Amino acid sequence: MITLRTLIWFAIAAVAMLAAVWLAEQPGSVTAEFRGWRLDTSVGVLMVGVAVLILLGIGGWLLYRWIMGAPGALMEGWFDSRRRRGYRALTQGLAAVAAGDGAEAQKLARKAEKLLAEPSLTLLLSAQAAQLAGDRDAATRAFNAMLENEQMAFLGLRGLITQALRDGDQAKALAYAERAFQLRPQTPWVVHSLFDMQAQIGQWKAAQDTLDAGLRRKVVTADKGRTLKALLLVERSRAAERDRHSADALVLAREAFSLAPERIAVTQRFAELQIKADDGKRAMKTLERGWALAPHPDLATLYLKASGETDPLKRVGVIRRLAAQKPDDIESNLALAQASLDAGLWGEARRYLEGAGGTNPSMRVCRLMAEVEERAHGDQAKVHDWLARATNAPADRSWRCSACGAHHESWRSVCASCGAFGTLQWRAPGTFGQVLPPEARAELEFAGGATK
Ligand SMILES: [Zn+2]
Repeated sequence: MITLRTLIWFAIAAVAMLAAVWLAEQPGSVTAEFRGWRLDTSVGVLMVGVAVLILLGIGGWLLYRWIMGAPGALMEGWFDSRRRRGYRALTQGLAAVAAGDGAEAQKLARKAEKLLAEPSLTLLLSAQAAQLAGDRDAATRAFNAMLENEQMAFLGLRGLITQALRDGDQAKALAYAERAFQLRPQTPWVVHSLFDMQAQIGQWKAAQDTLDAGLRRKVVTADKGRTLKALLLVERSRAAERDRHSADALVLAREAFSLAPERIAVTQRFAELQIKADDGKRAMKTLERGWALAPHPDLATLYLKASGETDPLKRVGVIRRLAAQKPDDIESNLALAQASLDAGLWGEARRYLEGAGGTNPSMRVCRLMAEVEERAHGDQAKVHDWLARATNAPADRSWRCSACGAHHESWRSVCASCGAFGTLQWRAPGTFGQVLPPEARAELEFAGGATK
């Protein structure tokens, strides 16, 4: 190849030389005069001279271009290597986050930030690294900086919500959650978090609007939405009653009952207001329906109140009607035992308690048995026996949170322990198949799980 190219160059040079000689030998002369200078030459030499001048000009121009372009190319190379180093720092930083090395991640994040000058790429790493290292201020700064960037704003809000919740600043968390909801109302954790926050501070109507939006976008299942809405209506009914709008309170309670009669609190609320409106008959119907789905001692108490019956013996008959709605349930047996005990029917009370307790009577059954023995025969030995048994007996049903398992004396819509809404259920311990935290909490924990 080289010899071929050399040959071609050699040929071109030979042709050029021959052409120059030929031109120089051509006849004809040129004379130029300039301010006393005089030039005599042939046309051929002049033409060769002009050609050489043109070639020199082209050579000079190329040289000039090369000199001027060199710094640009150098700069470009420098920026290229800078960007490469920046991306390397970013990648290594992400790896450090994944490995849980907060300090190293923060160092690399700062390096990437300096080298890349690309906030949308480096902010997330900076925020995560700061969270991992427990540097709250740096994390907050990074999250706030994300708010400036359209694509990052949502992620920034997520981080800020987690931070605010951890600080116990509910108002701030709510404001951020509302902003996140404006940006992406279809994202499950946004809907769940906003709903929980609104419920926690008693903004029942706002929570209901959030729930409706979640239902429309299928973020909340229809069945869960129905129950949650019923419980929100219970709270709104309570609020209306406090504000002395008793008609509204009844309307809201009725709507709640039409949605979720299987929730004890719903049945209880509706029956209470029916009794207050002097409609004992309807209250009894409500309670019978509720008892068939979910019996509870409070419903039995309300049922007796709704009946207006004061004679102890007749009250046993009243409870019998209620218990008939769910005859084999422990609550039915216990309600009958209590009514029998109140009427002095010891034998019946014992029979119902045996029905309620089976082979392994619960604490409540043991205590009532002790009471029966005490009041019927005053048999102290047997009383002591039952009370001793009660201490080791299996726990009874009580209000337990299905999200965190916390125990509560009475029903409330928001769990005092974990803040979840609508999770308190009348259950014996260990009867929730598994503890299912609300989706929102799980996701939020995941988002900010790094810092504890
Ligand atoms: Zn809870």
